[in-house]
Amino acid sequence: MKSHLSIQKGGEKLPETINRSFKRKKRQALSVEDFVEAILNGDRIVLSQAITLVESNKAEHQTKAQQIVNACLPHSGKSIRVGITGTPGVGKSTFVESMGQHVTSLGRQLAVLAIDPTSQISHGSILGDKTRMENLSNNPNAFIRPSAAGESLGGVARKTRETIILCEAAGYDVIFVETVGVGQSEVAVHSMVDFFLLLLLPGGGDELQGIKRGVVEMADMIAINKADGDNLAKAKESRKAYRNGLHMFPPKNSNWTATAMTCSALKNTGIKEIWQTIQQYEQFTKKNDYFEDNRQHQAQYWLNETIRNELKARFETHNEVKNHFQTIQSRVQNGEITPFIGAERLMELFLKK
Ligand code: GDP
Repeated sequence: MKSHLSIQKGGEKLPETINRSFKRKKRQALSVEDFVEAILNGDRIVLSQAITLVESNKAEHQTKAQQIVNACLPHSGKSIRVGITGTPGVGKSTFVESMGQHVTSLGRQLAVLAIDPTSQISHGSILGDKTRMENLSNNPNAFIRPSAAGESLGGVARKTRETIILCEAAGYDVIFVETVGVGQSEVAVHSMVDFFLLLLLPGGGDELQGIKRGVVEMADMIAINKADGDNLAKAKESRKAYRNGLHMFPPKNSNWTATAMTCSALKNTGIKEIWQTIQQYEQFTKKNDYFEDNRQHQAQYWLNETIRNELKARFETHNEVKNHFQTIQSRVQNGEITPFIGAERLMELFLKK
């Protein structure tokens, strides 16, 4: 295996003034204002440091991170956020590299983030190890950040959402959020992006490729990758089958009709067309107001989600609840009290303070 990338240690292209002020303050901790100012000036080193704070579980880091994210919020949002999913081996890294080179060649600034539900076990080896994005990682208009390892999906999803805000404030106007198509992570990614792209291989149904039906329904586009060489004919057949299949789904809230396309991330074919379609989607949903409505719904979803997670965490770590949980659980299991009464007793302990 090739060596790990040195992901965004860079900063070679920093604006001089920022670089100087940053160097001056290197030894003393940057204040929230310093962070925000540097991020808004596109300082990649400070952006990386802010993301590290967002990812940290230390209380004081979290407090600071929240202040930075909140201050960046009014400067965020001016991007297209694209979710990219597919099973390992389908060509996500290669696709992101190829598409990334294309969008940056059009003068866009790209941030690539990852949500890796397997990172808890593999320490981010599936997505975090971006050994193949060699060109993109040296591209001054691209910023690549792997998933925080050792995190629960809920934790990493929240952190990725906050990272999107920081990247947008730093001037990145195209955001790719990549995830492995195995499980719940697609739902999390879908709820933080504007456009959801599913990569599939030629031939073989999505279920054969380990993709759940719900994921296909979430997709705004299916791209059949590896449409090259001997696979080309098979890829075209798959495209036709998916085009027909996608019409069977109920219409989307966006009124956008999901489509299937072919591409070769390796040979760089179909990439331009896929980007054009993503732009058509952006225009279409901005015109019918879905784009903004969807972002508002997503913000509301994350508000509810955060409250739910926070309440659960506080409940589970509450001393009185912890002291009585086992006893009440046994009584419920033995049929002495109903689960409802058991839950109510625990809630009373929780709310008593
Ligand atoms: P990921 O696990 O989904 O990120 O997939 P990778 O991008 O690592 O690709 C897995 C393998 O498929 C690598 O050997 C790539 O070179 C190869 N690959 C990716 N895209 C294409 C393509 O469009 N055509 C062909 N023939 N191979 C591809």
